[in-house]
Amino acid sequence: MGSLRTQVGIVGAGPAGLLLGHLLHLNGIDTVVVEARSRDYVIDRVRAGVLEQGTVDLLVALGVSTGLCRAGLRHEGLYVTFDGRRHRIDLADLTGGKAITIYGQNEVVRDLIDARSATTRPLYFGAEGVSVHGLETSKPVLRFQHGGTDHEVHCDFIAGCDGSHGICRPSIPAGAQTVYERVYPFGWLGILAEAAPSSDELVYTYHERGFALFSMRSPRITRLYLQVPADEPIESWSDEAIWDEMLTRMTTRDGWRPNVGRILQKSVTPMRSFVAAPMRYGRLFLAGDSAHIVPPTGAKGLNLAASDVLVLTRALRAFYEQGRTEWLDEYSNVCVRRVWRAQRFSWWMTSTLHRFPNESAFDHQRQIADLDYLTSSRAAMTSLAEQYVGLPAEVSFESAGLQLHTASR
Ligand SMILES: Cc1cc2nc3c(=O)[nH]c(=O)nc-3n(C[C@H](O)[C@H](O)[C@H](O)COP(=O)(O)OP(=O)(O)OC[C@H]3O[C@@H](n4cnc5c(N)ncnc54)[C@H](O)[C@@H]3O)c2cc1C
Repeated sequence: MGSLRTQVGIVGAGPAGLLLGHLLHLNGIDTVVVEARSRDYVIDRVRAGVLEQGTVDLLVALGVSTGLCRAGLRHEGLYVTFDGRRHRIDLADLTGGKAITIYGQNEVVRDLIDARSATTRPLYFGAEGVSVHGLETSKPVLRFQHGGTDHEVHCDFIAGCDGSHGICRPSIPAGAQTVYERVYPFGWLGILAEAAPSSDELVYTYHERGFALFSMRSPRITRLYLQVPADEPIESWSDEAIWDEMLTRMTTRDGWRPNVGRILQKSVTPMRSFVAAPMRYGRLFLAGDSAHIVPPTGAKGLNLAASDVLVLTRALRAFYEQGRTEWLDEYSNVCVRRVWRAQRFSWWMTSTLHRFPNESAFDHQRQIADLDYLTSSRAAMTSLAEQYVGLPAEVSFESAGLQLHTASR
């Protein structure tokens, strides 16, 4: 049996766990990160790609932005299409210069793993039988097997950053949390295609056959999504059928359409909204998807994970540097407020842009009116823009110990 001692045991090496590990490292706080999957699996997992302004600023402040600055695509606007017409929303103009950046989550994860490796602090990939114990005590324990050996990590705190299917949230006794959930009657069929993006900015499309989203990962790779029925088997979609449907929904009256190319990867993702609160039980703190899921329409999931761990870092730093516990006590309240605002925005984007199986003619006309208002009112566009680029951070970078590490962009 290997026995270790650390200050914060982190379960999960997705964006939440890796960002937290690096934030705490910069504050001189020791961590052990335990990940169930292999390094390659974690890096190759294709997911989010839209980074809010605040997430970009955080990665820069952390000093892990070399790849982001080289390959990230800064977007100062986006398009909303309905009735075959594209309408541009100028995010930068409406928010005093803020923007989003397209940079794949897998690239963010790769950069953070490299940064972790450089610190030589422990990160176990391929851990099996991960479990957490003694959460109500001041010395919780993290157990797992790795390379045929049992390991036990004695911690001051455990951060549950193990996503929506992890073990941390289920380790909280029933009744200690309230769960809020909405499941949508559709999913997103997403593809990565070897095709140069035909638009410099994202295009959100409301079409009578359903929602579609044009996005990209690089100057050579397009990322596209289609609304499909929930639980749609990906095998039922040939590449030809996917392109037919993409072009039907996305081609606009002025002839704009995505470039077609070889499909490199395709999958169907279910859509749901989920919040488990409070995000703390004893010495266990949940962060990211382990506590909340948003439908991807608002592009908030990865960004919420970044926001959670910034708030948690402030609290842990105050504990270790000054023995203060009030920010640990406030952690869940501070995060949950932002989570609900992101939930509301993501629900609104989803409800406005998708077709629903049981919708009435009234519902359809109301959606069109919503989009008409959105694209013709500066006030409505400003509301979307400030939420899309990200509401102001809940806590300052300085309070999370980042003032000495701020890099220039
Ligand atoms: C198709 C798709 C598109 C998306 N698009 C966007 C977008 O454009 N913008 C956006 O902001 N968000 C988007 N999201 C959401 C975003 O990907 C997630 O919110 C983000 O990954 C959350 O990070 P996390 O670290 O909390 O969780 P995860 O990334 O899920 O990481 C959790 C980690 O914990 C590990 N783990 C699980 N169980 C255990 C265990 N028992 N022991 C140890 N480790 C464990 C997992 O292997 C994983 O590495 C998208 C999601 C999907 C699926």
